[in-house]
Amino acid sequence: MTLCDYHTHTSFSFDGAPDSTPDSLCRRALEIGLTDLCITDHCDVNGEAEGIYDPYQADAAWEAMTAAQEKYRGRLYLTRGIELGNASQYPEVARAVLARHPYEFVIGSLHNLRGVPDFAMLKFEEMTPALVAQLFDRALDETAEMIRFPGLSTLGHLTYIHRYITLAGQAFDFKPYYEKIRAIFRLLMERDMALELNVSTLWRGLGIGMPTLELLKLYADCGGRLVTIGSDAHCPANLGRAIRKGYALLAAAGLPHVTVIREGERVELPVE
Ligand SMILES: [Zn+2]
Ligand SMILES: [Zn+2]
Repeated sequence: MTLCDYHTHTSFSFDGAPDSTPDSLCRRALEIGLTDLCITDHCDVNGEAEGIYDPYQADAAWEAMTAAQEKYRGRLYLTRGIELGNASQYPEVARAVLARHPYEFVIGSLHNLRGVPDFAMLKFEEMTPALVAQLFDRALDETAEMIRFPGLSTLGHLTYIHRYITLAGQAFDFKPYYEKIRAIFRLLMERDMALELNVSTLWRGLGIGMPTLELLKLYADCGGRLVTIGSDAHCPANLGRAIRKGYALLAAAGLPHVTVIREGERVELPVE
């Protein structure tokens, strides 16, 4: 049985735990039986451009990922990736980030709307349903814009905003947004991009994936097939958590495979 985790962070990006390094993640991966690992440190382009986070240590990260890839070759498929945040907000910065190293896997994520802080910082519990709906709608529009940015492999946590709506105790109905979400799925397929299932909400006990089972089914109904999966671990202890639960969600949605990169080639691994 194969097992992969394609969304993980180290201390080379601003919010990784000090004990999280490419080497410590690889060691942990072998302990828990992962066959495929991708390291995807944060580089939010608005963070780089506006100086709101410590800059991504791209060269040191690349060197450490490359060294780990050599060290663990034959025991673990390690892919050198990046989580590129909000690419279309500063496309020149984003292009420069991707030009720096030949990343083998790029997660495109939207962590905040233009001119608005990260969704994690917003107080959804104090918002009216109409305002929440407006932000969700804008998040879909900005996601559709972002995935047109060249060089992305997968769309990270499509419903990141929904994590915080859920944490605020608010129910949310996706149905009014089906047409916009279908358009995003069609765009992914046209661009040969995958959809990520991010399971951090599962191991954090929220009982939902990002995206939810409902939206994974919608993706399958639209003809979507390419899926990647990740724990979004920021320390070795969280590596691989809830990946098997995520596999079960994918199987329930009618999505039988997850995609990984092995020696530069895209490979489909069965989820059951
Ligand atoms: Zn993210
Ligand atoms: Zn992440």
